[in-house]
Amino acid sequence: KLHNTILELKGNIRVFCRVRPLFPDDGAAEGAVVSYPTSTESLGRGIDLIQNGQKYPFTFDKVFNPEASQQDVFVEISQLVQSALDGYKVCIFAYGQTGSGKTYTMMGRPEAQEQKGLIPRSLEQIFQSSQSLQAQGWKYKMQASMLEIYNETIRDLLSTNRSIGSDPTRAESAVSGKQYTIKHDANGNTHVSDLTIVDVSTITEISSLLRQAAQSRSVGRTQMNEQSSRSHMVFTLRISGINEGTEQQVQGVLNLIDLAGSERLSKSGAAGDRLKETQAINKSLSSLSDVIFALAKKEDHVPFRNSKLTYLLQPCLGGDSKTLMFVNVSPDPSSVGESLCSLRFAARVN
Ligand code: ADP
Ligand code: MG
Repeated sequence: KLHNTILELKGNIRVFCRVRPLFPDDGAAEGAVVSYPTSTESLGRGIDLIQNGQKYPFTFDKVFNPEASQQDVFVEISQLVQSALDGYKVCIFAYGQTGSGKTYTMMGRPEAQEQKGLIPRSLEQIFQSSQSLQAQGWKYKMQASMLEIYNETIRDLLSTNRSIGSDPTRAESAVSGKQYTIKHDANGNTHVSDLTIVDVSTITEISSLLRQAAQSRSVGRTQMNEQSSRSHMVFTLRISGINEGTEQQVQGVLNLIDLAGSERLSKSGAAGDRLKETQAINKSLSSLSDVIFALAKKEDHVPFRNSKLTYLLQPCLGGDSKTLMFVNVSPDPSSVGESLCSLRFAARVN
């Protein structure tokens, strides 16, 4: 059994900060500075923000500067990914304001080999390792699902039913009668009724699934005015392994989550649907922080039931599961206010 030492140092929650590159149309702002490690190894731990002459220093388990490549980032999580094959429940989140690099970190640009994100890289590693473990008698079964939580309702990103996938503006349950009720069984497995679960055994199958999901998410974006920035995307890979020699069994889960944009949507002027949406995002992100905070402090009551996201992930957040959060920030001075909020959130859970 492989051991994951980085996560055994302190509690179960690690936080990595990633600063994306500065782009030409990023804004400037008087008196605001974001400073991060400049070492080429990109393995510093501190990041400082300066706003109106006030310095705000933060320390995380790692800080990746804009030069850190997708592979540099993956190297730091590959052990954690591997532990899902050993039977651990693993969650990796990306948190940050819209445009800070969450989707780039998680999914990347799949069309460019070196820009692939953590999801395709993790899956490739899992398939390769599971193949080499066959020599030791291990047989694995892998099942993937992919969903979106928007306004506290679940949408199936792998549904092959076009009429559902292509009209995210209508509550899916109204169209299809599908309920997506979340249940946990006695073995700590999560079941979402009506959700598409796909058996996957090759990298090619996974690649086509990811393409399908990306497409179904982007259809949502054009029709729903950037809905994807207001929804959480949860990719889940369930791994069951059995050793034909020793009869040992393992059941691991890998959850990779691209969270809704954390920006504070202006409260004034928000009404109707927009207000409901704002409240739903704030509620689920603050529920997530409440849950992680309660777990870190080993409190008796952990408020999993306060949001769909935390309830869905309940078995993968407590116990001996492993959680890593990326806090993505933008280096442009005009985002310092939002970056400060993101880093404070991350510091609270770390
Ligand atoms: P978010 O999902 O947080 O809204 P994105 O991942 O879509 O943000 O990132 C915004 C833009 O910045 C995208 O065009 C993305 O490709 C680009 N980007 C983000 N992070 C990086 C990075 N580390 N290197 C290169 N481009 C990046
Ligand atoms: Mg995104």
